Amino acid sequence: MSAGLAPSAATLPSAESETTPALKGLYVGGSWHLSDGGGTRTIHCPADLREVTTVVESSATDAGRAIAAARTAFDEGSWAALPEKRRGEMLLHTADLLIRDKAIYARAEALDTGKRLVEAEYDIDDIVSCFRYYGGIAGTDAGRVVDTGNPDAISRIVYAPVGVCSLITPWNYPLLQVSWKVAPALLAGNTLVLKPSELTPSTAILLMDTLTEAGVPAGVANLVTGSGPEVGSVLTSDKRVDMVSFTGGLATGKAIMVAGAATVKKVALELGGKNPNIIFADADIEAAIDYSLTAVFLHSGQVCSAGARLIVAAELHDRVVDEIVSRAAQIRLGGPFDDNAETGPLISAAHRDKVHAYVMAGAAEGAILRTGGKIPTEAPLAQGFYYPPTVLDGCTREMSVVQQESFGPVMTVETFTTEAEAITIANDTDYGLAGAVWTSDASRAQRVASALRHGTVWINDYHPYVPQAEWGGFGQSGNGRELGPTGLSEYREIKHIWQNTAPAPQYWFSR
Ligand code: NAD
Repeated sequence: MSAGLAPSAATLPSAESETTPALKGLYVGGSWHLSDGGGTRTIHCPADLREVTTVVESSATDAGRAIAAARTAFDEGSWAALPEKRRGEMLLHTADLLIRDKAIYARAEALDTGKRLVEAEYDIDDIVSCFRYYGGIAGTDAGRVVDTGNPDAISRIVYAPVGVCSLITPWNYPLLQVSWKVAPALLAGNTLVLKPSELTPSTAILLMDTLTEAGVPAGVANLVTGSGPEVGSVLTSDKRVDMVSFTGGLATGKAIMVAGAATVKKVALELGGKNPNIIFADADIEAAIDYSLTAVFLHSGQVCSAGARLIVAAELHDRVVDEIVSRAAQIRLGGPFDDNAETGPLISAAHRDKVHAYVMAGAAEGAILRTGGKIPTEAPLAQGFYYPPTVLDGCTREMSVVQQESFGPVMTVETFTTEAEAITIANDTDYGLAGAVWTSDASRAQRVASALRHGTVWINDYHPYVPQAEWGGFGQSGNGRELGPTGLSEYREIKHIWQNTAPAPQYWFSR
């Protein structure tokens, strides 16, 4: 069932010469292929297990061929040689096409993830903003001229693309995480092989055709669908890959660092979080309670920056937690097209079981289960991978349930009595992705925000971000940054060019 992949990337068929296979997933050298192993994977919606689509399940051989295509396209040189402005125009064009096709993208994202359609639509807006941001800054930073103090020397700092980039992404915000990598990688002049989560490949498949329509040449952006162990490991260890940018879980991130070490790849990691949400006694309590619910239960907690650790002033505990418990118990679960739903299912049965085991472990450690904690057994929720918003009260920072990321709708509650204690509790984590502080004292807000060892800190807010601002983690939440100018720098090598404009013998050594 081979798609007839040519033996080398240099002779890969062009988009024009290849008949597009009905099954998509493997996009190499500007055309769609079937896997050389004949593999396929059926995607089901986690809300009701309906069949969404069947895609190519790529093999390790397919991954190698995609890398070869990206390598050839990079080494041939014309993509990196384009003016950055021209590449930026393609990103802006991509943004326009995403708007044109928003309904198609949003529906595909909602079906793959089970999230509400309206949330998928917000995601597409954010993805458009990301492409527009990077398209908009094209050509605005050409490096710098260094003052050498020598009129006969020209010293310039310039940027070069890193080369072939493997971009590996998770399932929670499938195309959003893709856009944070693809847009800056392309702007900087790299070529790439993208591997989306095997659970949610549909929008990455759509994106390949959109990029091609926007003018991105064959071989520059390639796609490999398939599992982490099979194709991901090739993408992270192959010598022809210069950089790996990964978003996903901590254990996978550690394995990728090891895989990349053998060929000293540049490795950028966006990993998990266990994020504190601190409420001081002087906060606007109603706003703090309301945002605390969104902080942790948005997208059923499947958000890397979810405010899963509520750290509340002891004197406010009963008022805040009682109301959170009461409101959490009323959150309506449902599928993508259920207008009454407020949040959706978890991504898979395996993930739901993991979340449930985490809650049970918390209860066994002494946490008090205030609401949730039971897998729904009645229709219609029993037909999907739903898990109810769950609150574990009476937690302490030693508990595994407080330290480990559940990546589900689970809030743990801790209390503090002093500002210093709040900071100590919030920083007591191996992670360091995001956190929030709620207070009406402006100087306390800044003091605590400065003291938190987390990559994003919100004051009297939770979750907003803009593509102009860097995103990433301290500690084991990862290294490097996405978004903002730094998110572009990650995909650039920095080069120093020195020119002596009046060369003459130095006679350092005697004649
Ligand atoms: P995951 O680590 O299981 O998988 C992520 C991707 O890595 C998938 O495409 C998967 O196929 C691939 N993969 C798996 N094993 C691999 C291997 N050995 N080599 C190469 N690739 C491999 O993560 P997930 O379950 O898809 O996503 C959830 C995690 O992602 C959570 O921990 C969450 O916090 C994190 N996340 C972080 C951010 C951030 O910005 N920091 C954003 C979203 C999600």
